[in-house]
Formats: sequence, structure tokens, C-alpha cells
Amino acid sequence: MGEPVLVIGLTGGIGSGKTEVTHILRELGAVVIDADRIAHLSYRPGTEVYEAIVHRFGPDILDGSGVIDRGNLGAVVFSDSGRREELEAIVWPATREWIEGRLAKEEARGTAVVVIEVSKLFEAGWDRLVNAVWTVEVLPDDIGRREIARRVQARSGLDEAETGARVAAQMTREERVERADLVIENTATLDNLREQVKTVWETIQTLPEVPQIPK
Ligand code: ATP
Repeated sequence: MGEPVLVIGLTGGIGSGKTEVTHILRELGAVVIDADRIAHLSYRPGTEVYEAIVHRFGPDILDGSGVIDRGNLGAVVFSDSGRREELEAIVWPATREWIEGRLAKEEARGTAVVVIEVSKLFEAGWDRLVNAVWTVEVLPDDIGRREIARRVQARSGLDEAETGARVAAQMTREERVERADLVIENTATLDNLREQVKTVWETIQTLPEVPQIPK
């Protein structure tokens, strides 16, 4: 068995800059796991998760080739929190199981730091799976809200109302800030973000030992 790996859970609001932070952390030497991507992979055709979702949500969520269409599924779950919870109850345990397997491998490999990027970290209860939670945030004033809308629109074409619906479906900034161990404010430039991330990276290099995650 190798040295314990430091596992950081990285969360934050939609468009806050989580992925940008993971790019910087990867350059600095962290292994990054994108939990949202693992969640999407978990329902490829042929998987148990796929079967469970199609059984629960019906064939309308499939595209012409029988693949679960994220747009169709999103349209159902973003407008109905009960349905969203049904989906999460199927997808989260499978994703967690995959991540736990990966963490065991990284530990055996001697990896020092693993960062798990997960937008709904607290909602999924994964703060218990990690040693520390970092949240990426944008200031909640008008400028910050407009900045989020601009970033999300530029990337995924969602308009301000659609972005607002997704923000409303998440935990609030206040709750994340309250529960996180560290807040990375990303309202300014990408250079500013890089400086902050470098500073925390240097800080964690000096930690005396990794606290054990209670089972
Ligand atoms: P999501 O939750 O929607 O996956 P995210 O939190 O991972 O989003 P990113 O994908 O990192 O956010 O950032 C969203 C968009 O905003 C990207 O195009 C990114 O390059 C851009 N962006 C992030 N931070 C900044 C910044 N400080 N200045 C300008 N653009 C930024």
C-alpha cells in the first residue's frame, strides 16, 4: 500500500471556472478526475445505469441511435426536481463506485494529489469522500451574474434564463462557501485565477501529513 493520497473535491457554481482550475492544477502536477464526465460515461448503452435510466424515464430520452440524449434528459430533469433526484439516485452511486476504484489505483501508484471536479459535491454527499473541499465562486452581484451568463453563453449557448434555471437547481454560493475549506474567487482575470491556484498548490505541498478519510 502506498502513501495516502491527498484528495481534493473541487466544486462551485455553473460557469464559475472549475474546469479552468483543473487545467492549472493538472499543469502543477495533480491527477484530475472529472466526475460529471464519469457520470455521463456511466450511462453509455449496455451499462446497468443505462438500463435503469431508460426503464425509469422512457424511450423519449433516447436519440435516433438509442443513446441517451443529454439534452432530452436535461429537459426533463431541469424542470422537475423530483425527477432530477430520481436520476441522481441512479447515477451518483455508480459514479462514486468508479471514483473509489480510481482513488485506490492512484494510491497504489503513489500519486500525491487527486482533484475530483464535481459540480454537485455537497448535494451528493461527496464531501465525506475527500480530504478537503475547494469551491470556485464568482461574486454574487450584478457584475458577477452577468459574467456567469456571458461565460456560459459563450461556451454552451444557454441564454440568461436557462443559465439562471441551472443556477437555481444548485446549492447557493453562500452554502458552498460556508461548507468549503477554501474559496477560490474567480470574478477577475484568468491570470488572477492562476496566481491564486498556484498559491494554494504551494501551500498544500507543505502540509505535514494527509488526514485520513473516515470510512
Ligand atoms: P460548468 O459548471 O458549467 O462545467 P465550470 O465551472 O467548469 O463550468 P469553466 O468551464 O472553467 O467553468 O469556465 C466557463 C467558461 O468561462 C470557459 O469558457 C472559461 O474559459 C471561461 N472562464 C473561466 N474563468 C474565467 C475568467 N476568470 N475570465 C474569463 N473567462 C473565464
